[in-house]
Amino acid sequence: MWLGLDDTDSLEGGCTTLVFHELLNALPCDYGEPRLTRLWPFAAQRTRGNASLSVELYADQSIIAWLDNYWNENIAPLKGEVAISEHSDRLQYPADPGMTLFFDKPSADYYWRAVRGEAGFVEGGHQWGGHGRIGAAASCAWPADNSTWEGIAWRKGPREVSEESLTLVDNMEETFLCRDPRTKRGLVAPRGPCPVMFGVRATTFDSASKASQILLDGCAETIGSRIFRTNQATGDHIDTTIADTVHTKLLLKGGHVVINNRYLVFSESGDVNHIAQWLDVGDSFECQGLEYDKQIHVEAIKVVKSVTKQRPLCECGIRMKSMGQGQGVRCPKCKLKSDITWLEDVRTPSISGWAQPPADKRRHLAKTLALDPKC
Ligand SMILES: [Zn+2]
Repeated sequence: MWLGLDDTDSLEGGCTTLVFHELLNALPCDYGEPRLTRLWPFAAQRTRGNASLSVELYADQSIIAWLDNYWNENIAPLKGEVAISEHSDRLQYPADPGMTLFFDKPSADYYWRAVRGEAGFVEGGHQWGGHGRIGAAASCAWPADNSTWEGIAWRKGPREVSEESLTLVDNMEETFLCRDPRTKRGLVAPRGPCPVMFGVRATTFDSASKASQILLDGCAETIGSRIFRTNQATGDHIDTTIADTVHTKLLLKGGHVVINNRYLVFSESGDVNHIAQWLDVGDSFECQGLEYDKQIHVEAIKVVKSVTKQRPLCECGIRMKSMGQGQGVRCPKCKLKSDITWLEDVRTPSISGWAQPPADKRRHLAKTLALDPKC
């Protein structure tokens, strides 16, 4: 059977990952690998990280009564807590925890709905609580065909992770997003009041495990740690790559760019924004992003073709002018004619291939496109 949990972020040190860790520690039965899933970032009432958790349980029917009791004593009281946001401009919803237990793994379709759009409640199994049941069920439904791993530790007191251990894990082949390559700032330790000491991401379980141990040896006291299989950096939230041509481009106050009144490129998106600003009317591009409020929030962009057209220069150095449709060009001064009506100049952007936001501005779900041989 599959157990899911979501939406327990709270003010008093709550964080769904820690609540789940404690639940796993208390379980009277064996269980499989813990899973951490990120879902559609625009979901209504989303809490801070939009993380939902799940695990396979090896238990019999008696687990229901045990979970019922655990829910009432430990998780239900978290309802209504408000998480402190790292983004003060974002409306925070009070936690509305949900827990689900399914005897059969829910259909993967439900996961895909919840990672790419707004999903509703799913029927069946045993369910506790409120809104969080959506994410909890979606996490249970995750097929995990494509996954990465994250080693998470929770702090007892202050958050301190040594520079030395950070450098060691950053240098490991199979870890990623440990440090912002530009600013050199460490990315494993979150900011703000949440109880996480560090979260280290890797492409294999073994490397997540090894990296966690290195960080644990070089950090302040922790409550515990765990390795989660995750859908982070899988690109699961993106359905398709869109190809289009620039018809209009608008530069908004603050540096945001709007292309064709449809593609929204935020100033915080770094290279993505630079490319959007660089594009001209007539250029073709590809992009990936999520649709929200009829606009695509662009999170990756690639220039396909950018060509500037100019009339050729005459031998005398003056630019030739058209004599009318289909009639070639002529120098306005010495009247020399030419059949070459246009000279095309290919513009090359500063980034060839996919541009993505800086490491710390990417979505948890965002896949590193430059490393994908398919792109
Ligand atoms: Zn001339």
